[in-house]
Amino acid sequence: MKLLATVLISVVISNALSIVAPAGAAAAESRNQITILYDAFGTDPSLTKDWGFSALVEIAGKRILFDAGDDADIFAANVKTKGVDLKTLDFVVLSHRHSDHMAGLNYVLSVNPTVKIYAPKEGFGIYGSSLPSSFYRKDEALPPEMRYYGGAPPQVMKFGAAWHGANFELIDKTTEIAPGLTLIAVVSEVPGTRELKELSLAVNTSEGLVLVVGCSHPGIEKIVEVAATINPRIRLIAGGFHLVVAPDDVIAKVATALKETFKVESIAPGHCTGEPTFAALKKAFGDSYLYAGLGVTLSLGANPGSGMRRGEGPALQPDDLTTYRRLARREDPFGILHAQRLRTKGPQL
Ligand SMILES: [Zn+2]
Ligand SMILES: [Zn+2]
Repeated sequence: MKLLATVLISVVISNALSIVAPAGAAAAESRNQITILYDAFGTDPSLTKDWGFSALVEIAGKRILFDAGDDADIFAANVKTKGVDLKTLDFVVLSHRHSDHMAGLNYVLSVNPTVKIYAPKEGFGIYGSSLPSSFYRKDEALPPEMRYYGGAPPQVMKFGAAWHGANFELIDKTTEIAPGLTLIAVVSEVPGTRELKELSLAVNTSEGLVLVVGCSHPGIEKIVEVAATINPRIRLIAGGFHLVVAPDDVIAKVATALKETFKVESIAPGHCTGEPTFAALKKAFGDSYLYAGLGVTLSLGANPGSGMRRGEGPALQPDDLTTYRRLARREDPFGILHAQRLRTKGPQL
């Protein structure tokens, strides 16, 4: 009788455990895929397109939110429609300080307030920072009321983050944050975003490196150059290449470098890559160009993108193009396009 009771209790407990365990948790562990949660092109009518980027990266047993879109409400709606559980994320990566990659973080924190967030370490940035108080010059002859902290500063001066209490871990230089998972930190030297530090996620798999990029402001080639030092075999690059206003010769150079120099196997461009670059990459990569519009899940099985829409058809559908063009007009936060337009107009002004 006692034995029967024990068996019954253990059955009850094991049933309860299987209910308590989050549905699909075991399946999620073995999943290797990237799902695009935020972008300005895509064919799924149940999702809202907007300028910005976010992707759920499920790889190497980890669930990573890479960037968080441009608008918390749209981000929340897309996340819910795709059935993504933000409570079970391993961590979040914010690629850089532009709002079209971060604004959905408020929603992430409302669901998962303690989640670890990796972000670039920048002096006085919105992710918070700190400096030894020895950084500023002192004048001991001044009366205390004219001196910072009355002349007795703390050893380390802390500067707050825009998201109070968020669990930020700031990354200064390229760092392996978990076995095989590296955050590549590159600083932009490009006019308009000079000194902006950007993180890209590199995952080393047995079939080569999977690289997820946000905007590639420092230059996609510079990021891939660092990635190639981790593993020269680059299996897939997904994300924004920031060539949305680039002229044809620059686009052609990048496409050749990715295909010929770095021998990138597959490419899944999105966000600020730009329409002419979508076309050029599709031409260069053919069947290895993976359509990565909003809502698409790129499978990273033995063959990246297997079962997904490979090179067939246009890089963008016609209605994709219309929305993408409308939303892309916003991608001139530093007035570069505007300045170019003024320059070409020249004497008329
Ligand atoms: Zn950006
Ligand atoms: Zn962007």
